[in-house]
Amino acid sequence: MSDEVYGGIEAGGTKFVCVVGNGPDGILERQRVQTTDPSTTLAECLEFFDRQSAIHALGIASFGPLELRPSHPEFGHITETPKPGWDRADLLGPFADRLGVPVAIDTDVNAAALAEVRWGAAKGLRNAVYVTVGTGVGGGAVIDGRPVSGLIHPEMGHVSIPRLPNDEFPGICPFHGDCFEGLACGPAIEARWGRPAEAVEDVESMVDMEAATIAAGFRQIVYVLAPELIVLGGGVSKLPRIHEKVNAALVDQMSDYAVMAEHQSDFVVPPGLGDDSGVAGALALAIDAC
Ligand code: ZN
Repeated sequence: MSDEVYGGIEAGGTKFVCVVGNGPDGILERQRVQTTDPSTTLAECLEFFDRQSAIHALGIASFGPLELRPSHPEFGHITETPKPGWDRADLLGPFADRLGVPVAIDTDVNAAALAEVRWGAAKGLRNAVYVTVGTGVGGGAVIDGRPVSGLIHPEMGHVSIPRLPNDEFPGICPFHGDCFEGLACGPAIEARWGRPAEAVEDVESMVDMEAATIAAGFRQIVYVLAPELIVLGGGVSKLPRIHEKVNAALVDQMSDYAVMAEHQSDFVVPPGLGDDSGVAGALALAIDAC
């Protein structure tokens, strides 16, 4: 790790986390900023960086959807979001203008995937995916060491997945109903079971159903992107034995087609960086921007 210092922001719907450092083990300063309206929140983040010694570059790992095409006039903006005040908000511009250093931006999950490949559970791999299952489902991909985006960034939470036998639950995605997110996210568990996951009495049945649902989403991801590993994070990833159960369900659902036989238990893993995948990812984006 170099001695040079970088800035990172993990931009989320409830908080922005600003850090200065050079990697997950080298975070020198950290501050949480409440997500209110864009001008207030971004001003507080800018004040944090004003108080720090000079950084070489800044990385922003943000909630989306984001415009990530560099040639687009709204590069670095949030696009359409129902979040009040944040529709079309410019995340990149204020920092590029004020800090005068390279500023890179990507989704929180693409950044988390990058951090897990560089320092975490997927260290040393060329291709890996990071999926968070929490209030929503989001996935980021690193292919040949670089985060993937194009017309849009990956929206793995909205792939279609087969319904489990005899399952009548309609799903809760406002766009698609029973897509991956609509069936698997935390609020979907609550809608299906009539209470939040932590209050469900039949934990075993709930986790088994959740694992089978997540595995159905992962099957799509594996066949399309061919990752060498999937890191599963987010609030739902704290359910008991969920990684082991998703791995087993994925092996079962892929029916011996492809090489899952080699990965009976080590293909779906928790984040190696714990809850710091996002902020570490922001630093990785900054390092790569130099
Ligand atoms: Zn959807």
